[in-house]
Amino acid sequence: MTGPCQLCPRRCAANRIRGQVGFCRAGDGVRLFRWGPHFGEEPPICGETGSGAIFFSRCTLKCIYCQNSPWSWRGEGRDVTVPELTDILRDLAVKHRCGNWDLVSPTPYLPYARAAAAPLLAEGIRLPFVWNSSGYERVETLTEYRDLCDIALVDLRYADETTARMASSAADYVAAARAAVRHLWNTLGPLDSEEPGRATRGVIVRILVLPGHADEAIENLAWLATECSNKVHVSVMSQYAPAFTACDTPPFDRVVTEEEYASVTEAAADFGFEHGWIQGFDSRDPSSDLVGENMTAGEGSVGDS
Ligand code: SF4
Repeated sequence: MTGPCQLCPRRCAANRIRGQVGFCRAGDGVRLFRWGPHFGEEPPICGETGSGAIFFSRCTLKCIYCQNSPWSWRGEGRDVTVPELTDILRDLAVKHRCGNWDLVSPTPYLPYARAAAAPLLAEGIRLPFVWNSSGYERVETLTEYRDLCDIALVDLRYADETTARMASSAADYVAAARAAVRHLWNTLGPLDSEEPGRATRGVIVRILVLPGHADEAIENLAWLATECSNKVHVSVMSQYAPAFTACDTPPFDRVVTEEEYASVTEAAADFGFEHGWIQGFDSRDPSSDLVGENMTAGEGSVGDS
């Protein structure tokens, strides 16, 4: 990490190695909440042994409905050194035999992740990197850290900057996320496997249907089909559950209705998306919706979410 931080679209220029903290609250060094095999991602990412997930503390977005607020907003977790992060990556690959290194919201920590992986790569220990992201990214950063992105698992959350400002304090989310997805699609192309745990390269775009904002999910599917391709693997999700301050903020204080969800899944079919996953509306398991909020810090497996 050198100089003012410009890693995410906020470009807040915090001089983190000199003790400043950024908008995301990240300072010098790495802070993690939890790491271990994770079974809550899409099948080609999980497989039988799980993705090798590392949940980084802090976040570049400020989502009012965040299910991970203990560590994304409040920064719970623990600081680790780069050699400790190397050991974690090693354990995920060698001890747990995970199918990939699944970096969850890694953007503030990319320089440290690269430094931590370097000794392993020199030893010939190498898993595909999953860049697991809200989609709020800079193309310049994605280009600079291309070596940490074999598989992009990214959201397209909003199509309206008013919603993005209100719900995530990021009015520029729509422009940033669309530029990022377009770049990732052009760089990585389609997912190379639909077999559980076998993907090594490609793009998955997640469409989390938000209550009262299904029209934005449809608009993003239309954009994706037109500006990228309907060959993109999409993961349409019904699992939204109110959490954190959204519990007092209509319409984010409720789950998605069946009618709202059907409008999005029908649009996905109408736009010709044939690859990916449509979460069943009836198969939602409310007890697992808040798995993030209920997760304990430290090492250990993370179940279905
Ligand atoms: S990653 Fe954090 S510190 Fe860096 S520009 Fe973004 S908000 Fe600022």
